[in-house]
Amino acid sequence: MFLRIDKLPVELPMSPEADPVAARNVQELLGGRFGEMSTLMNYTFQSFNFRSREKLRPYYALIANIAAEEGGHIEIVAAAINSLLNGPRTGFEEDASGEGFNAFAGLPGGINPHHFIASGQTSLPVNANGAPWTGDYVFSSGNLILDLLHNFFLENGARTQKIRVYEMTTNPAARAMLGYLFVRGGVHAMAYAKALETLTGVEMSKMLPIPNIPNAKFKEARVFMDQGSHRKLYRFSPEDFSEVASIWNGAVPEAYAEGSQGEFEFIDAPPEGGKLANLAGIASSFTPDYAPEEIFEIANKLYSKAQGK
Ligand code: MN
Ligand code: MN
Repeated sequence: MFLRIDKLPVELPMSPEADPVAARNVQELLGGRFGEMSTLMNYTFQSFNFRSREKLRPYYALIANIAAEEGGHIEIVAAAINSLLNGPRTGFEEDASGEGFNAFAGLPGGINPHHFIASGQTSLPVNANGAPWTGDYVFSSGNLILDLLHNFFLENGARTQKIRVYEMTTNPAARAMLGYLFVRGGVHAMAYAKALETLTGVEMSKMLPIPNIPNAKFKEARVFMDQGSHRKLYRFSPEDFSEVASIWNGAVPEAYAEGSQGEFEFIDAPPEGGKLANLAGIASSFTPDYAPEEIFEIANKLYSKAQGK
């Protein structure tokens, strides 16, 4: 089963302007082969399909628990895309085009038109080319070492593409999200490397980072390293998965620590999280409607009734 927390893993800055080209590029990190939908579904299916779960509990717990974190990563990438598609809009916006109904006439080239036609200027489960995410991206072989090796590859492929998207935008909403995910992806790659080391003795963690660019070079990642995020795995369950600590422990290797030494820590709770931005309505997209006063009124009545007023 899954519980849900109504927060983002961390709060994001608002995009200073609508930036639909950056939104399109960031879609790769949501619905692409190496996107967050892929990490989530790979680890989720591997955990569903895990054999000898009780005998191999630490490895099962590691994969299942990281899967849960990936759910929050989908959410934060979607939030960044939504911010990029909307900019600093905060209140219900009247149709800017007036009588002509041509609010979208000035859109730049290089966007994904589905962001404006199929969704109300919000994220979609597609890659940067607009191709839908597919279950073909899921690898769940049932061989534990092969699955862990695949996951190590997947995290590093994801990191490569994230760094490229970072280089394609200077937008602070995109870069803050990327800085956070550089660090968390680094943790996951290290976690799968450590798991493989326990099983094979091969020092996988010495291969990190791939590509060989320190996270500390990115100022948006450094913020989270200063908080020790690169040393922490979080428990995404009120009672389960504490066995992860038997893999995620010990001294942080120097090359990985990048000047922020310490021990790997398994934190007994999810991260504190940050506020979700309020996505305002837009008349020209009919979201939540062209003139939403009536549905606001109905919602308000329901809310008052639920509170016994
Ligand atoms: Mn992720
Ligand atoms: Mn990951």
